[in-house]
Amino acid sequence: MTQRMIGPFEVGDRIGVGGMGIVYRAIYTKNGAPVALKILSPEFSDTESLQRRFEREVSILKKLQHPHIVRYYGGGKFGTQRFYAMELITGGSVEDVLKAKKKLPWEEAIEITMQVAMALEHAHEAGVIHRDLKPGNLLLTKDGTVKLTDFGIARDTTATALTAAGKTVGTYAYMAPEQIRGKPPVDKKTDLYALGCVLFEMIAGETPFQCENQGEMLMMHLQEEPPRITSLVPDCPMFVEELIFHLLEKDPQERPFDALDVQTKIDGVRRKITEQKSMAADALEAATASTVIASAKDLNELKSALGKPKKKKKKKDTSQFYERTWFLSLCLALVAGGIGWTLWSAWWPSEDALMARAEQLMKSEFTLDHVRARDGHLKPLLKQFPNGKHADRAQTLIVDVDKEDTLGKMRARVKLRQPPLNEAELQFLAAEQFLKFGDRITALRKYRSIVDLFKTTDELRVYVLLAQDEADKIVAQAGDETLASFLNMRLKNAETSKSNGKLSEAEAIWTSIKTLYEDNEEVSAHVAFARKRLADPKGNPGLPPWNEAETQ
Ligand code: ADP
Ligand code: MG
Repeated sequence: MTQRMIGPFEVGDRIGVGGMGIVYRAIYTKNGAPVALKILSPEFSDTESLQRRFEREVSILKKLQHPHIVRYYGGGKFGTQRFYAMELITGGSVEDVLKAKKKLPWEEAIEITMQVAMALEHAHEAGVIHRDLKPGNLLLTKDGTVKLTDFGIARDTTATALTAAGKTVGTYAYMAPEQIRGKPPVDKKTDLYALGCVLFEMIAGETPFQCENQGEMLMMHLQEEPPRITSLVPDCPMFVEELIFHLLEKDPQERPFDALDVQTKIDGVRRKITEQKSMAADALEAATASTVIASAKDLNELKSALGKPKKKKKKKDTSQFYERTWFLSLCLALVAGGIGWTLWSAWWPSEDALMARAEQLMKSEFTLDHVRARDGHLKPLLKQFPNGKHADRAQTLIVDVDKEDTLGKMRARVKLRQPPLNEAELQFLAAEQFLKFGDRITALRKYRSIVDLFKTTDELRVYVLLAQDEADKIVAQAGDETLASFLNMRLKNAETSKSNGKLSEAEAIWTSIKTLYEDNEEVSAHVAFARKRLADPKGNPGLPPWNEAETQ
């Protein structure tokens, strides 16, 4: 039997099947070098849009030359068949590894993430957004080097005539909110969100959002806080958790600045973990001779946490050093000493001295220092000098700190997936959901109703003040928009997405409208329209609400 030839390539085994092509192992006959050959499936060879997509993938890959991106060798047309050759990667994909091992140690996961971040930095600099980052598209060489592949739905932001691609969506489990909404436009931050999902999955063995169906998944990307990775993998350091939360921020602007910033942050994580280990080592030295270590057991635990240098490396330790008894006792001793000192120096301070210390602490960027200013200096000042010259200023600052403190704790509860503390907090978070969806009218209404509902409840006063601030902000940038006109605009966006083939983006808008406005009579026509579209995107939903409004 003769070997099948495509151009100068001798085609071997099939190694992968993708959305529009098949990948084969092949030999470049001129020099005997092994390559991977991606061939556009014959049944697609006369579909123009897919041909264009294939060509776009080639033109993007050509631009990218980086140790962590699969290298393009060359391609062309053989008869009617399009193909291209690339570097052959034989270690399988990260997806294969996860299938076999379920999850990876966090140390390995951040090393992989580092390499992908390098690849992304290069792609982004060349104006290419990958848009489909996932474990299946991260190939591994035999020595464990990561190579990013599959630029099939990537977007070249530098190309001018961008035709709508056949398949514009990425994969649901890794899809950033803006990719779902279509707003703000997809950019390099979109890849960073997906990278966060991949990092999460490598460590936890599952992607951040688990749910029954795709619609629910999209809603979760839009609205749900991801779970804490440390609740699934207790030995994962909090620095890694912070990095994941940062990558998974809903608002692209809140994510790391770019892929280089991600690398810097990973370096920071590595450094902090090393520091933590050496801090623990110092503490061991200092503590061995003292009474801090309560028992021999603690000492042994500590020693094993640090790893005995002569013995073979073996990772057994799971709890973090700051959870250990000896460390807590050390902290307690320090705190007790600190309190004694503070009381002593603050015994009879003057009004000026109290104010000066408070102002000093207020300059700090940390809420914790502001809280110390409030409780340690401003409140005592008001108590001792209620009619003093700084009383007004102290009062103002106390209110500011109350607001900041409440807001911080509320955000922390959301992150920790704890329920709201009270009805006012619940309402405040609900108002924020509307603001995030872009509906300032309903948000304003909700903030105002918080003010009305709780203005006579003393212990909820701080929520009233926070709501008032938000309401003022909205009013300050007021337009003449009405709720109906806002929803018309969103529904029209959905229609545009739908006719551009971006059904998932459209579905996300319809689902949001359905869930957010279900109980709002005033826009029932919009809800009905969204429902009909969701039930049957291709069917006839009747007269759209904006036509009704215009004909009135
Ligand atoms: P699609 O864009 O259709 O998803 P991919 O580029 O992801 O296609 O390729 C499909 C599969 O082929 C991959 O999941 C991988 O298993 C395999 N593959 C792709 N490129 C290579 C390569 N350079 N070396 C080895 N295997 C590859
Ligand atoms: Mg693929």
